[in-house]
Amino acid sequence: MSRFWSPLVHTLTPYVPGEQPKLTNLIKLNTNESPYGPSPRALQAMRDAADDTMRLYPDPEAAALRAALAKRVGLTPDCVFVGNGSDEVLAHAFQALFGHGDPLLFPDVTYSFYTVYCGLYGLPYRQVPLTPDMRIQVEDYTGPCSGVVVANPNAPTGIALGLDDIKRLLEMHPDRVVLVDEAYVDFGADSAVTLVADYPNLLVVQTFSKSRALAGLRVGFAFGQPDLIEALVRVKDSFNSYPLDRIAQAGATAAVEDEEWFQKSVQKVIASRTALASGLQALGFEVLPSQANFVYIHHADRDAAELAANLRERAIIVRHLRGARTASWLRITVGTDQQCDKLLSALRDILRRNT
Ligand SMILES: *Cc1c(COP(=O)(O)O)cnc(C)c1O
Repeated sequence: MSRFWSPLVHTLTPYVPGEQPKLTNLIKLNTNESPYGPSPRALQAMRDAADDTMRLYPDPEAAALRAALAKRVGLTPDCVFVGNGSDEVLAHAFQALFGHGDPLLFPDVTYSFYTVYCGLYGLPYRQVPLTPDMRIQVEDYTGPCSGVVVANPNAPTGIALGLDDIKRLLEMHPDRVVLVDEAYVDFGADSAVTLVADYPNLLVVQTFSKSRALAGLRVGFAFGQPDLIEALVRVKDSFNSYPLDRIAQAGATAAVEDEEWFQKSVQKVIASRTALASGLQALGFEVLPSQANFVYIHHADRDAAELAANLRERAIIVRHLRGARTASWLRITVGTDQQCDKLLSALRDILRRNT
């Protein structure tokens, strides 16, 4: 608190990111980063970009990156927006598209940044409860609203909606934007990008941070029809015309073009997820069906916060979220097979000791 703060600052409840510990010997399964390195071609492109041209501002429109993203999904570059991480893309979208007065609708258990953006931009919102089995029921997203936001797959549950459900949301609210946050879509869900041409009210947001192993680069993007993209550009150019530096543009463009590396590392994560889920079930955990690079688990007679603390003592960090509906669950990133095995044996040990 300070008398220098703007009144707004006093009201903010900022997002708390997962811990980025300084220790290097930890098994880090708490923020859904990729256990595999980025595309070697992306790394080389970044090294090549670090030259004398760094004295010049980057392309404010990130034309090469947007063209590469557009080409990959069969859209035109005017249907693509890029920003400094999808968090920034989401923030611009909230400000640009959801200020119509009625509440914004999103699930009660989802990415906790959504309420933070609503606080920052003064947007009313209504959190729609997940079903008791932690699913989004699209029929519940009715009534006057400023828009709808769903993460698909949802976080932290990992459960995905089908495109038929996304279409239903789009058709329930033809005059409002439905934002689909697809941070984890590459790990097994269907992307709504195939619906962009048919639905002027659809904005699909994705990121390089998870499936492309570039969380450190901070690049996110959105697909939508040109007038939605123009709204985001208007906000961006009223905030920071150069959100993506030269190195980020070069690295992200090369990453998009390295489809083979991308497919291989995503497939490895999916295979490890299947094995991890059965290992956890064998230990007595309930494991929600995940289409993401993490699993969401619950043990009928163990305290989740305590389990997380016990794992930490064994140099394994996972994510425990407070809150009425999440406090008895743990979110665990799918690591390498070796990391998953270490996690399972640590949990086996913990469960045996504390009986
Ligand atoms: C990780 C994540 C993001 C943000 O990713 P960036 O690193 O900012 O691109 C957005 N939405 C969800 C649901 C996420 O889990």
